[in-house]
Amino acid sequence: MIDLEAARARVLEGCAALAPVRVPLAGAAGLVLAESVVSDQFLPPFANTAVDGYAVRAADVAGATADRPVRLAVIETIAAGAAADRPVGPGEAMRIMTGAPIPAGADAVVMVEDTDAAAHGEQVEIRRAVSAGDAVRPAGDDVRPGAVLFGPGDVLSPAHLGVLASLGRTDVLAHPRPRVGVISTGDELVEGPVALLPGQIRDSNRITLLALVEAAGAIGVDLGLVRDDEDLIRAAFVAAAAGCDAIISSGGVSMGEFDFVKRVLDEVGRMNWMQVAIRPAKPLAFGTIDGTPVFGLPGNPVSSMVSFELFARPGLRRLAGHGDARLVRPTVRATTAEPLRRGPDGKTHFVRVVADNVEGRYVVRSAGGQGSHQLAVMAAADALVVLPDGDGVPAGADVQVLLLG
Ligand code: AMP
Ligand code: MG
Repeated sequence: MIDLEAARARVLEGCAALAPVRVPLAGAAGLVLAESVVSDQFLPPFANTAVDGYAVRAADVAGATADRPVRLAVIETIAAGAAADRPVGPGEAMRIMTGAPIPAGADAVVMVEDTDAAAHGEQVEIRRAVSAGDAVRPAGDDVRPGAVLFGPGDVLSPAHLGVLASLGRTDVLAHPRPRVGVISTGDELVEGPVALLPGQIRDSNRITLLALVEAAGAIGVDLGLVRDDEDLIRAAFVAAAAGCDAIISSGGVSMGEFDFVKRVLDEVGRMNWMQVAIRPAKPLAFGTIDGTPVFGLPGNPVSSMVSFELFARPGLRRLAGHGDARLVRPTVRATTAEPLRRGPDGKTHFVRVVADNVEGRYVVRSAGGQGSHQLAVMAAADALVVLPDGDGVPAGADVQVLLLG
């Protein structure tokens, strides 16, 4: 058996970041940036007001109070998107709306709540003193020309995209989302509401893995259900390698007589067959077909999900350009609400649990049966306890937990 970290290292060796492409800003959230973004502009582009109110000369209203307001002549109104026609002179003010440019001559804005324009004709009463610069957002207050804003490896967040849009950019150089083909294999598998013949079950892995692929930020490509037939399996993998950036299959990689996936992948790919010291998801096939990474995950539904989480997800994130720190989900410490028992077997167990956040500390309890076929328990779980080899832990133990999603 090989340990988890060593198996993951082999996977990551076979997954290189996809070549960057120009992508429109819309839809780029979550992608990994592949260029340096240097500002060529001031943001905001001009000094503007942070509030609705009156643009004034601070010196004119230096003594203003509610009891002794200062009256100024209102000579113009400036809406956002407009500009004043003339400067503000001594004894004058302009009504101004949030975001509108500060007119020449003015150096502060009094918020409308501190003024009284009622019953004064073309005059306004300023009821509070302001200092030069009050409620003024200077040009370049956020970004100045020459500022290095973002760089390769940064993950594009909604805020990043907003900054790029503010600079007038419509696209950005980023690593694309990997297109990931998902294949189910097995003669026992059918899909949909058909009546099951003896021995048949419904394919659950494909829909689950496609959803996991999407949740990992990649694009799932449904490559269907393939019978346990060597020629069909070969054709499916060769076509997938040509049309996708990665392939994920489930089933057919254990020691059974009809596990043709193993035979085919050895023929068309360069594969690593691993027995990882974990439970569930011990068998893992990873390799490449013509450079395209292939993940041969075990068929049992919980095993394929855990294997995806531990190996395929980090590999797909590497293809998407993520740096080392963002490949694997961070783990947190948690307290067990009940004993989590297991026996020594040389493996690390990933126990399906429900994690509750109790006053900032996670408390975990088993989500149910831990069989690798018990997918409904996986559905109830939202975390995996990383239970080291041994006899398990008592209630109240401090454990390491992987929060799923
Ligand atoms: P295998 O890895 O092909 O030996 O399959 C191991 C177990 O997982 C068997 O019980 C299969 O029936 C089951 N299995 C394999 N593929 C799927 C699938 N796509 N959906 C649900 N169960 C599956
Ligand atoms: Mg099978």
